Amino acid sequence: AKRGGGGIACFFNREMDLAEHDRRKLEGDLRLAIARDEIDLAYQPVVCASTGRIKSCEALARWTHPSRGPIGPDIFISLAEECGLIGKLGKDLLRKACVDALCWPDDVSVALNLSANQFRGHTLPQQVAKVLAETGLNPRRLQLEVTESLVITDVEGTLRQLRDLRAQGIQILMDDFGTGYCSLSYFQQFCFDKVKLDRSFVRDVAVRESRAIIEAVIGLGQKLDMGIVAEGVETEQQMRLLVETGCTHLQGYLFGRPMPKDTIVDLLRNHSAS
Ligand code: C2E
Ligand code: CA
Ligand code: CA
Ligand code: CA
Repeated sequence: AKRGGGGIACFFNREMDLAEHDRRKLEGDLRLAIARDEIDLAYQPVVCASTGRIKSCEALARWTHPSRGPIGPDIFISLAEECGLIGKLGKDLLRKACVDALCWPDDVSVALNLSANQFRGHTLPQQVAKVLAETGLNPRRLQLEVTESLVITDVEGTLRQLRDLRAQGIQILMDDFGTGYCSLSYFQQFCFDKVKLDRSFVRDVAVRESRAIIEAVIGLGQKLDMGIVAEGVETEQQMRLLVETGCTHLQGYLFGRPMPKDTIVDLLRNHSAS
């Protein structure tokens, strides 16, 4: 029995070693990819609910691993956060997004996701100001997406930085609304420009409970002057219900998948000609 137990322990240890080894390897590969500037941005259109015109594009990070193929940002962004690489990666992606947006019609904004760690050093507003000045992108064309969970750790410090960014003319969006540690009291201290309704509500928009939540968020948005972006819109039926309910912006596969930067430039060119 003793030997059997030891065997099991041994087996688990080996499994863990493998997982750990795997993680270290991936971490090293990610470090290299960042150094070699191999993380790209794909762009997904966000349209105005009443006109169907493209108002902005969300930048989504993409990494094609040399042997494993594409790895989702859910995986490599959290890895970058864990191993202290998000600062450098975040800065690189910000610059890339600003440079790419310079090739778009100037009524189209670019939205970039930020991770909570990027607020830790309290230097984000200065960093962003520097990149905007260096690239020449109009701050009004930059949107920064943050999640509800961001505000938890250091409420004062985070809100101060958000206000500073806002004062530069940048729009601040609350992402994934309704999934996190949602506290409505944040809205008392900071008014977001837009709120993005999480995909899970959008998917179930025909269900009574989801519909009620969406209606409540939209009501709040209208009273507080916040736009409401519905994300993950995949069907005509969802679109109809969301427009009916009062969402101001729509995003999802129905309007376009995330696409490489050259493709989005072509799309935007044809779109503004039409
Ligand atoms: P998110 O910010 O909520 O991004 C929306 C996700 O939904 C994206 O997944 C997008 O490709 C996907 N999506 C868009 N429309 C549809 C649809 O109609 N149906 C379905 N099923 N999915 C749709 P993606 O690109 O895999 O990104 C996952 C998450 O990774 C993002 O969620 C965001 O939290 C994070 N992320 C991506 N890029 C960055 C980045 O540059 N920086 C940071 N900090 N996080 C990023
Ligand atoms: Ca987002
Ligand atoms: Ca989202
Ligand atoms: Ca998300």
